[in-house]
Amino acid sequence: DPDQPIIEEVEQEVAEWAENQQEQIDQYERFAEYRRRYVGDISHELKTPIFNIQGYLHTLMDHGYEDKKITKSFIKKAAKNVERLQTIVEDLSAISRLEAGDLMFDPEPFDIKGLAQEVIEEVDLKAREAGITLGFKEGAGQGFIVEADRESIRQVLINLVTNSIKYGNQGGATRFGFYDMDTYILCEVSDNGIGIPEKHLPHVFDRFYRVDKSRSRQKGGSGLGLSIVKHIMEAHQQTINVRSTAGLGSTFGITLGKA
Ligand code: ADP
Repeated sequence: DPDQPIIEEVEQEVAEWAENQQEQIDQYERFAEYRRRYVGDISHELKTPIFNIQGYLHTLMDHGYEDKKITKSFIKKAAKNVERLQTIVEDLSAISRLEAGDLMFDPEPFDIKGLAQEVIEEVDLKAREAGITLGFKEGAGQGFIVEADRESIRQVLINLVTNSIKYGNQGGATRFGFYDMDTYILCEVSDNGIGIPEKHLPHVFDRFYRVDKSRSRQKGGSGLGLSIVKHIMEAHQQTINVRSTAGLGSTFGITLGKA
C-alpha cells in the first residue's frame, strides 16, 4: 500500500500535537492552581489585621470614650495593625515586581563589607532595643569586592539582619562573615537566636511561611521577607542557604559573583 507511510507520518504528527496540547493544558492548570493559592494566601493574610482593626474600632464605638487610657491603647493597637497591612502590601508589590522581572537591576562592583557596615548602622537602634549587638566575625578580612545590584543586596542584608533581631534573644549577637570561595564570595549572617527546627528549614523561603505565627506577627513580620530575599538572589543567578539548630541559632548565607 503506497499510502501507508504517509498515514503513519500523519498519525505521528497528530500524536505529537495532542501530547503538546496536553502539556500546555497541564501547564495552564498548574498556573491556575498557583494563582488560586496565591490569591487565597493573600486574602487570608489580610484578614487578620482587618479583623483586629474592626474589633478595636467597634469596641471604641460601642463603649464610647469612657476610659481615656483604654481608648488610647485601642487606637494604638489599631494603628499597629494598619502598619502591618502596609508592610504586607509593600512586600507583595516588591514580590510581584520581582516575579514579573520588570525590576531594573543595575550590577556594579562594590565592597560587600562596606555595605554590611552601612546596614549595621541602619538597624543598630532596633538591635539595641532588642538587646542584640551587631558586628563582624573575628578575622573577617577586607576587600571583598562583588558585582551585583547594590540596592537590592542592601535589601537582602536588611531582611536577614532584621530577622536575626526579631528571632534573637536579649543579649544575643549577630555577626557578618565573608569568605572568598575562589569563584565567588560567600556572605553569611549568623545569630545565636531561637533557631529553626529542622523540619521547617526547607520551607522558610516560601511566601507567608512562619515557624511561629504569633511571634512573627508580634514582631511586625509579613512572612514575605525571606521570599523577597530568595527572589532577589535568583534574579542575580546566585543562591541563598540556611543552616540552623533550634535553640542555638541560625546562619543565612548568600553567594555573590566576584567583580
Ligand atoms: P517574617 O516576616 O515572619 O519574619 P520571613 O520570610 O522573613 O518572614 O521569615 C520566615 C520565617 O522564618 C519566620 O517567621 C521565622 O519563623 C523564620 N526565621 C527567619 N529568620 C530567622 C532567624 N534568623 N532565626 C529564627 N527563625 C527565623
